[in-house]
Amino acid sequence: MNTSTKSRPSHAPVTATVLSVEKLSPHFIRITFAAPGVGSSGSGIFDQRIKLIFPAPGHALPVLSGVNGNWYATWCALPEATRGVMRTYSIRALDETVAPVHLTVDFVIHTDPGPAAAWAEDATRGDEIIIVAPQPGAEPSGIEFAPGDATAIVLAGDETAAPAIARILEDLGPDSTGVAFIEIPTPADVLPISTPSGVDIRWLPRLGAGHGELLIPAVLGHLGVTLIRAHPTVAESASDLLWETPVFSSMGEELAETCSDRHTYYWIAGESALVTGLRRALVKEHGLDRSQVAFMGYWKQGVAMRG
Ligand SMILES: Cc1cc2nc3c(=O)[nH]c(=O)nc-3n(C[C@H](O)[C@H](O)[C@H](O)COP(=O)(O)OP(=O)(O)OC[C@H]3O[C@@H](n4cnc5c(N)ncnc54)[C@H](O)[C@@H]3O)c2cc1C
Repeated sequence: MNTSTKSRPSHAPVTATVLSVEKLSPHFIRITFAAPGVGSSGSGIFDQRIKLIFPAPGHALPVLSGVNGNWYATWCALPEATRGVMRTYSIRALDETVAPVHLTVDFVIHTDPGPAAAWAEDATRGDEIIIVAPQPGAEPSGIEFAPGDATAIVLAGDETAAPAIARILEDLGPDSTGVAFIEIPTPADVLPISTPSGVDIRWLPRLGAGHGELLIPAVLGHLGVTLIRAHPTVAESASDLLWETPVFSSMGEELAETCSDRHTYYWIAGESALVTGLRRALVKEHGLDRSQVAFMGYWKQGVAMRG
């Protein structure tokens, strides 16, 4: 039998069972799942994204186990009212030394809770969801953090990006250098992260300010860049989630080779308008080389995400 990882789909749906629920802070709930069949490539989790499928109220979870490559088509073909809802999250921790594997997700509790945040708030041991996650030894897929030869990193994000930033920092080598800016709702939302000694973490509690109001000036100030226009244009506000990485552009832009600072790699994620604002300032106004930056809209104010 050919067991080559190349023929194996990188992600597959598994039924995951809640093992523990921990309220970490006013706005973070940590949930650890028993997730049989999940595993990593062995070279780090970083910002590995996963899909979570929550049951529709009053309905059982859809049956997707055993459906591999075409699980998404199978799920989409199910009636919308009963198939549950899908959202994207990050792996905060993956313990592959136990069987079944333990997978941890840090959920942000927000004021306009959609199905995912509401499910997390009510979750108890024994509850089940479907997690679409990497399989052991499969080719890495869904990891955007790619610093290449950069010698320094700048990570920036709001609370939804905090779990990914924490995982990146904990997976980096001890000699890594750089800075991580994390905007959070309150000072009580500062969470412990094991950081390489050369990386400085700056927590930015918003305390009622708007998303990005602290993060954008902090990142630009670090780079010595002045913000020319703070708010997104009408076109930017109306656009879909921004997803611009060195290998993919949601706006269809070509990668232009420039000669700016290639020693630093930038990873920026969070609410769409703040990511768009930073992108405009850094790429359009400051001329930062797009090949050195990943800009990722993780959610959009006022819009329910659809997986
Ligand atoms: C690659 C990736 C990784 C992610 N990792 C994580 C993670 O590890 N932890 C995490 O908590 N989130 C993470 N997110 C963000 C998460 O998917 C969204 O916040 C999602 O909208 C939550 O779903 P929901 O059902 O609670 O709300 P939805 O039904 O999607 O939205 C309902 C309403 O809530 C608003 N809303 C959504 N999120 C927030 C928020 N954080 N603060 C304020 N209002 C909000 C929406 O604008 C909308 O008005 C990630 C997103 C991506 C793309």
